[in-house]
Amino acid sequence: MHYNPSLHNSKHILKSILGITGKMTGALHFPKGELLVVNYHGTQRRFIPEFREQLSLFRKYFRFITPAQVADYYEGKMADSPPSILLTFDDGILNNLFAVEILDQEKIKALFFVIPGFIDSPAESQKEFFLRNIRPTIIPEVDSEKEDFSALSWSQLRTLIQSGHAVGAHTYTHTLCSSASSPENSSFEIINSKQRIEKELRVPITAYCAPNDSLYSTGKKEMKLIKDNYRFFFSTYPGSNAENPSPWFIKRCNIETHWMQGAVTYAIGRASYRRWKEQTRLFNKLAESQQ
Ligand SMILES: [Zn+2]
Repeated sequence: MHYNPSLHNSKHILKSILGITGKMTGALHFPKGELLVVNYHGTQRRFIPEFREQLSLFRKYFRFITPAQVADYYEGKMADSPPSILLTFDDGILNNLFAVEILDQEKIKALFFVIPGFIDSPAESQKEFFLRNIRPTIIPEVDSEKEDFSALSWSQLRTLIQSGHAVGAHTYTHTLCSSASSPENSSFEIINSKQRIEKELRVPITAYCAPNDSLYSTGKKEMKLIKDNYRFFFSTYPGSNAENPSPWFIKRCNIETHWMQGAVTYAIGRASYRRWKEQTRLFNKLAESQQ
C-alpha cells in the first residue's frame, strides 16, 4: 500500500518507518514455539491486493496454523515448532468473504468472531447496528460499500465451517462494559451469544473474544463467566504467546488491510509490544484470578 494522506496519518507514517528500521534491528526474530495471533476487522474489496501482500509477509516469518491447532498449542504440543501464526477476523463483517476467497486459495484456515445481535438484525438496519454498536467512527475511504456494514449470515458462516474455518463468540451485542454491566447483562452477552451461535451452526463454540478494549469489557465477573463457558479467551492486546502462555489471555496483534506494509511490519514486531506493558500486566492478573 502506498502512502495516501486520507488513510494514513502521521502516527501511521512513524510506525511504518519504525517497522522498516525494526526489520533491520531484529524486531522480527521469533523464537521456536512462538504463536502470533493477528486480528483483522473488515476486509474491503479494494484492499484485497494489500491483504495478499500481508499474507506473503507473514509467510516469511511464520507457518499458518488452523483454529483447531490452538488447543494443541495450549496443551504444550508445539513448544518445539517453528514460529506459527493464526488469523482471526472480528465482528463477522460480510466483506470478510473477499478475504476468504484468498484464504481458500492459499489453504489458510481462520477464526471468525461473530456477534449474534448483528447477524439477527434485519438487512436494512445492519448499517445502523454497525455504526451504533461496532464502530461509531469510520474512515469513509475505507468503509463505504454495503458489504462493509453488513453481517455474514448464518448460512454463510455454516459454509465457512464446512470449508475448515472456525467461529467464535464476540458477545451478543458488542456493547459490554464491565463496570456498567449487571451480572444478568454480562451473562446474556457472554453465555447467550455462545448458545445462539451453537444453535444456528451446530458446532461447539469454545473461543471467546473481548469486544473493544479487553480491560473495558472484562472484569472479574466476566472472567468467571468466560472461564466457566469457554476454553480460550482472545484479547485485544498484542504480545508474545510463548512467554507465560495462557488460554485465558491470548495476545493478538491488530492489523488492517489498508495499512502500509511498514506499519504491518511494526505491528507484528516485538518492539511494538512494549507499548502495551501496563495493560498486559493488569490483564495477566485478571486472567490468573479465580483459578
Ligand atoms: Zn469487535
